[in-house]
Amino acid sequence: MPAIIKHWSFSRAAALEECPRRYLLHYVVPRAPSDLVPESVQRNVLFLRQLKTLPMLLGTAVHQAASRWLESCAQGKPLPLKSLLDESWHFIERSVAFSAAEHYLYRDEQAPYYTVLMEHIYRIEITDAYMGRLYRKLKAALRRLPAWPVQPVAGGMQGPRLVQSEVLSAVERDGLALWFKLDALFQLESGQLLVVDWKLSEYNPQRDLLQLALYGTYVAEQVAGPGREVVLANYYLSNGKLVRHRFTSKLAAAVAGYVARSVQQMARLEETFFSGKGLAAQPPEWKAGLCTRCPFRKLCFPASGKPAVNPDC
Ligand code: SF4
Repeated sequence: MPAIIKHWSFSRAAALEECPRRYLLHYVVPRAPSDLVPESVQRNVLFLRQLKTLPMLLGTAVHQAASRWLESCAQGKPLPLKSLLDESWHFIERSVAFSAAEHYLYRDEQAPYYTVLMEHIYRIEITDAYMGRLYRKLKAALRRLPAWPVQPVAGGMQGPRLVQSEVLSAVERDGLALWFKLDALFQLESGQLLVVDWKLSEYNPQRDLLQLALYGTYVAEQVAGPGREVVLANYYLSNGKLVRHRFTSKLAAAVAGYVARSVQQMARLEETFFSGKGLAAQPPEWKAGLCTRCPFRKLCFPASGKPAVNPDC
């Protein structure tokens, strides 16, 4: 692996696949010397890369709720859906309430909960109808939290016992740290370990399987030990679909190959960037749909409307 890349994650790989310039802005510009990227641009990047969108907050709320639900089931006192829903919605509403465009106080240590929403920066109106849709999505997702911890299901997955939830960890490979956050790990009555990844997004079989394969690699190496089978599953909270796979050496090789290709692309791009080209290594290219949702669009296309960045920057 090229030494220039020390950290890898699916988010980095996704940024690179979607737009190499976005990858540079988000992951490389903050550590660039000022002769390559002016400090004013760097400050704006540091601000813009922290922006959240309401769908991102929804994802955070659902993952937090799922973890709380599993922990409560593991303790034998499953939380009622209503209280999970109220707490999650309160989290979203509070983030919106403290996110008006003028609240750049998010940097204030006294108010760490301030969120800067991309919707405000790009003057997207947060209407009651929009919030209503978000609430219905949240409710539908929480209703689909799995019944397995409290109610055995058919198909060989009886009696899962929670081992860990919300595990942030890394797998080391040749000096490279592959970072991930695993949603939940269960032990089945059969002794198998079951890795579950909650999904709010659309079904994307290839991407979702590769992600599971990385979690499977971690569990097989650091939790299961030799001879213990690892089973992987995506649980789609948008429609209740459960997709299971056995973790095999073929899957482990597939994710290793994907990581290697991704790291090579990152290294090539970074080498060009640090060789003196800076952001010119990857000039902006307008991609309908992608650029309109991108936090960096006013940096790439400054003439495209009102200023997007913190005026204090
Ligand atoms: S605005 Fe478009 S070109 Fe610029 S970083 Fe974002 S996706 Fe890439």
